Amino acid sequence: MSERFTLPAPFAAKSVPTRLFIAGKWRAAQKVMAVTNPATGKPLTDVADGDEADAMAALDAAAAAAKDWAATAPRKRSEILRACYDRMVAGADWLAYLIALENGKALADAKSEILYAADFFRWFSEEAVRLLGEAAIAPAGANRILVEYQPIGVSLLITPWNFPAAMATRKIAPALAAGCTVILKPAPETPLTALAIADIMAEAGVPAGVVNLITTSRAGDVAKTILHDPRVRKLSFTGSTAVGRALLREAADQVLSCSMELGGNAPFIVCDDADLAAALDGAMLAKMRNGGEACTSANRFYVQRDLYKAFTDGMVARMSKLKLGDGTDPETTLGAMINEKAVAKIAALVDDALAKGGKLLLGGTRLNRPGFFYPPTVIGDVPDNARLLKEEIFGPVAALQAFDSDEEVIRKANDTEYGLTAYLYTRDLKRGLSISERLESGMVGLNRGLVSDPAAPFGGVKQSGLGREGGHHGLLEFTECKYIAANW
Ligand code: NAP
Repeated sequence: MSERFTLPAPFAAKSVPTRLFIAGKWRAAQKVMAVTNPATGKPLTDVADGDEADAMAALDAAAAAAKDWAATAPRKRSEILRACYDRMVAGADWLAYLIALENGKALADAKSEILYAADFFRWFSEEAVRLLGEAAIAPAGANRILVEYQPIGVSLLITPWNFPAAMATRKIAPALAAGCTVILKPAPETPLTALAIADIMAEAGVPAGVVNLITTSRAGDVAKTILHDPRVRKLSFTGSTAVGRALLREAADQVLSCSMELGGNAPFIVCDDADLAAALDGAMLAKMRNGGEACTSANRFYVQRDLYKAFTDGMVARMSKLKLGDGTDPETTLGAMINEKAVAKIAALVDDALAKGGKLLLGGTRLNRPGFFYPPTVIGDVPDNARLLKEEIFGPVAALQAFDSDEEVIRKANDTEYGLTAYLYTRDLKRGLSISERLESGMVGLNRGLVSDPAAPFGGVKQSGLGREGGHHGLLEFTECKYIAANW
């Protein structure tokens, strides 16, 4: 296996390490695993396939570096994170190309992901010096109540393939800002982006052992090795609800602090007084950012009956303009899905909706071409019992249904075990805020098709997760609250 993967033209001068990153050094694993280009279905390169012994070595390194990093001045930690931001922004074009290569998404999506990902370094470089405590006189007047926020300790970070850069920096940046050392385990589909970020962080001056990275095809065994060791204090996971549930059980053994960013089933509600053009623009962003492969993706469109026909026609017109192709082609606006399994799942959900009476308005047929593609698809009048309305589609399929009253749409929107994001379009702010407050979701896009922002607390309720990432909340997730009852 080559020690570095060299990007093709136009970025042939750039290369990414392919080995494990432990204690500040790149090292080989016993085995390797292949990384596939979803646009062609062909292998791109091999990377190290770490095992339990590698996991233990990464944990040793993170534990050994923990004390010094926790004692490093917040200003110093802040400056290192800022240097990571600067380097990532400077490399945005080639990093975006790398994401497009291994994830399949369109270059424009990949570029915005890199900038979004870099922004977590900037935001948490600013937060690193603002971890303020509290001081109060106890109500009885006898003593002081002092509260400090201390680094929680060694943290295991597990990330998915759909935002290979942003899901990593959304965890690494607050962990380092708070003074924690980490072991990152990226998804096996997209390890190269994580490896590139670790390389950038080392160049930016992150000390050895503070960030360790294990690529592996044996996530369960690697995670188990780490989670059952008492030196670990935190699990931060982004991925599916099913895996999140299993990891919570695993983390119970050491009573670990867990931040869980899990699946979603976002409703997108368009009221009859909405600005139609703005709602359609927001709908395309909420549905098609990342080709629909986002936890925040609009999964169910509920449109009030008077606007239903106009909105549906508008969606068909906009979706039919998407240009499907290899994500690295700048003309492409809809890239490949991550793998064959994802395409098969999307096709099964569409077939189920059509069999139950949904009306096919665009797409809906698998494409006969290499790579993992599914065409832009719009289905109207989707019945309540269709799987499309209950499961994460994670693809370029818009499922629409008409509604009549606010009560009805709130009930339908909340009729799911998920509660990550919801979107709502109305010109009436009173109506908008009142519906927003009644939606069971951690986040609401009110007249906006995009909620993600490093400065805001991102996260879900119900089975969409625990905890928040981003904002000041994201920093606190990597701290312990220490209370000192003091007399003097
Ligand atoms: P996934 O199958 O749950 O995998 C996520 C990560 O967990 C991968 O690195 C995976 O590695 C690892 N993993 C799987 N089983 C594991 C185990 N037993 N122990 C330790 N790690 C394990 O999810 P995905 O398909 O990659 O990502 C899509 C899902 O992520 C969707 O449900 C989406 O909604 C969710 N997501 C949520 C957010 C959010 O912020 N709420 C953001 C992005 C994505 P392996 O693949 O090797 O198993």
